[in-house]
Amino acid sequence: MTTTALQAEKTTGAKLIDGKAVALKMRATQRARVEALQAKGITPGLAVVLVGDDPASAIYVSRKVKACEAVGIKSVSYRHPTTITNEELLVLIGKLNADPNIHGILVQLPLPAHIDMAKVLETIAPEKDVDGFHLYNVGALVVGRQIFPPCTPYGVMHLLEYSDIPVEGRNVVVVGASNIVGKPMALMLMARDATVAICHAKTRDLGQWTILADILVVAAGVPNLIVPQMVKTDAVVIDVGINRLPDGRIVGDVDFEGVRKKASYITPVPGGVGPMTIAMLLENTIQSAERQASGEPA
Ligand code: NAD
Repeated sequence: MTTTALQAEKTTGAKLIDGKAVALKMRATQRARVEALQAKGITPGLAVVLVGDDPASAIYVSRKVKACEAVGIKSVSYRHPTTITNEELLVLIGKLNADPNIHGILVQLPLPAHIDMAKVLETIAPEKDVDGFHLYNVGALVVGRQIFPPCTPYGVMHLLEYSDIPVEGRNVVVVGASNIVGKPMALMLMARDATVAICHAKTRDLGQWTILADILVVAAGVPNLIVPQMVKTDAVVIDVGINRLPDGRIVGDVDFEGVRKKASYITPVPGGVGPMTIAMLLENTIQSAERQASGEPA
């Protein structure tokens, strides 16, 4: 644990887990790994596919592309209007699968309604599926053989480890049960011997679950869903939510000012889990190129 990453509050209250600082720190190592690959004639390549003109998706994609540049990963963007057909998208993915210079393929979600998202994700070669959404990778996660762990929960695990927060045997409550965050998060925590409960929109009396959590991970997409009376004293609170308020502010799912007085650790939004998602995408892409370099099967 370093003072740059965990800034202890002067008064009582939670320590901030500074995801931005942790992600930046990881970059030095990632850059060195990319240089080592380049010395062997391999530049890690990431294909980023964006369909449509969703402004939030465009921002996420540009952040990912910038982060690639910062560590020396070559990113290639494929931007398509919503008029692209299912078949055209599948053909593009087929080409990227066959391209030896591409080590990772990322299709930015959500996709327009006419596109068969499941089919698209299953067409990505599992050994290039750096987002970890292919059924093969999901299955591998279930049986504890991670190939590419999904980036956001992988980032949360990294933050917990970096902050020396033990997981084994602790009560963890995950709020949100999506395929991309909540479910893989719960699986990763279970793989580390936590006792995990998953809550979702149909959970009755959410607070009676969250109050039991030594570690509370919230990924619901609902501002102020978690208020202090729902949080156990000294809990670790990880806020995955990203919500834009009508006044333009970006907030998480947790009442940050209230909960920080009660928790032992808390992630801010922005600057907590978000930067780690990108850091783990870089991690997976570099790892994919390293596997190729060593001739190792995925
Ligand atoms: P989703 O809409 O696919 O899933 C939301 C989940 O939360 C569902 O399981 C739903 O049942 C549950 N939920 C909704 N309202 C609830 C309530 N009132 N009480 C309890 N559970 C409730 O969303 P997602 O893709 O999993 O994303 C969740 C949030 O995390 C969003 O704010 C999203 O923007 C954010 N997100 C952040 C990152 C990051 O890098 N920080 C990455 C992915 C998603």
